[in-house]
Amino acid sequence: MLIIIKILGLIVGFIVDKVFVVSEELGMTVRKKDFGEWYLEVVKKAGLLDQRYPVKGFPVYMPWAVFMIKRITSMLEQGLEQSGHEPAAFPVVIPESSLRKEREHVKSFEKEVFWITHAGQNKLDERLFLRPTSETAIYPMYSLWIRTYQDLPLKLYQSCQVYRYETKMTKPLIRGREFFWIESHTVQRTNEDAKKQIEEDMKITEDVIEKKLGIPFILCERPPWDKFPGAEGTYAYDTIMPDGKTAQVATTHNLGTRFSKPFDIKFVDENEKKQYAYQTCFGPGVSRILSAVISVHGDDKGLVLPPELAPVQVVIIPISVKGHEKDVIKKSNELCAELSKCLRVKLDNRNYRPGFKFNEWELKGVPVRLEIGPDDVAKKQVTLVRRDTGKRIVVSDGEAKKEIDEIMKDIFDNMKARAKKFFDENLREAKNYKELKEKLKQGGLVKISFCYEEDCAQKLKDDTGAEIRGPVFKSNEKPGEKCAICGKPAKKVVYAARAY
Ligand SMILES: [Zn+2]
Repeated sequence: MLIIIKILGLIVGFIVDKVFVVSEELGMTVRKKDFGEWYLEVVKKAGLLDQRYPVKGFPVYMPWAVFMIKRITSMLEQGLEQSGHEPAAFPVVIPESSLRKEREHVKSFEKEVFWITHAGQNKLDERLFLRPTSETAIYPMYSLWIRTYQDLPLKLYQSCQVYRYETKMTKPLIRGREFFWIESHTVQRTNEDAKKQIEEDMKITEDVIEKKLGIPFILCERPPWDKFPGAEGTYAYDTIMPDGKTAQVATTHNLGTRFSKPFDIKFVDENEKKQYAYQTCFGPGVSRILSAVISVHGDDKGLVLPPELAPVQVVIIPISVKGHEKDVIKKSNELCAELSKCLRVKLDNRNYRPGFKFNEWELKGVPVRLEIGPDDVAKKQVTLVRRDTGKRIVVSDGEAKKEIDEIMKDIFDNMKARAKKFFDENLREAKNYKELKEKLKQGGLVKISFCYEEDCAQKLKDDTGAEIRGPVFKSNEKPGEKCAICGKPAKKVVYAARAY
């Protein structure tokens, strides 16, 4: 018996060793085993961010990341402009007096902004702060611009970086002191118009995050204690990361007249009566959306990028054999020129082993690898390799373009389906507190009946670290009789989760 156990132990040890050797060769932590470590590694090794910049919480965004940030931004801008928003650029500095106008807003942001107290050697008469979000920069100007109902709706957006003095541990692209986002700020005549705007924001978000980037999400109305400071209602988009924690990637807020009153944004209506305007603001977090793309789609080899987002869609790798270099290079150059007419193509003719190049471009998530060797030259063909499945396909030269288009479409469909499957598998349900605690350990979003009291949400947070993310937007689902946490009468069906 003992011998059998020993032999079994040796076999298991051998297998474990093998697994580690493989992952060591690829140089990546296994994603399922330690998502946190995998994430930090991929951000570094794929050349996304360099965290060595000497100011804490301020990384350098490298070309591979910036290209994608610009592309996500442009997808969102397109949606905003198609729905009547116009771009603007407000200053990054805001005077302290503007921050002090809205009571809840100041309470929340006062402690998490960067202050400017001096200019040159002079102390400023009034302190300035770097925008953490731009309500207090934009609304004093709106008050000057808006006169009558004819000026409404006013819909402006800006794509910019914002600054928050985060005291929690920073995490690249997920929580930083400087991050990329878009903020749109609209002024409307009625509360009904404001609500319509919120739904328009939702459509823009869905088009980009789900349809173009393949990130599944749930849209929840945040409970009153977790709203944007000063807002009447906050609607937030959460996706589920591979470690089971949720990440909020965008929010849209109904501000009602809570900002128009202190900022004096009034208009004369059709009956010559002065009225306070209704407002909304919408903030898709571009850095966070990119972090979701990295996390949700990535695998043990590194990034897996949606073809529409990838900085390079096809990488051409010439595989030379002595005596055939010229033919291989010639064909590679020709194909690169031809495919570059409609795709983002990179010819990698660096003097490295092909295997090294394969690993590097797989790590960077390039959707299709095109290999050209002497055999391919002779047979007038190319070899295509898919990043998502690793499958190799040999096609004739003339068919390459058409085949790449089809493969990219198929890759994206496959990525979307995989992501959706994981998301759906991580939607759970719990009937009582014991069950809720168990299910939260498994990760994802757990549906419960809830009393909708802040104290009860706080108890959950203290006990488990999880938060109430809120009821699903416009859901009419009837709760059970009792709150799953405290046992008092339940008012709503909500989702709970541990969140980034
Ligand atoms: Zn309760």
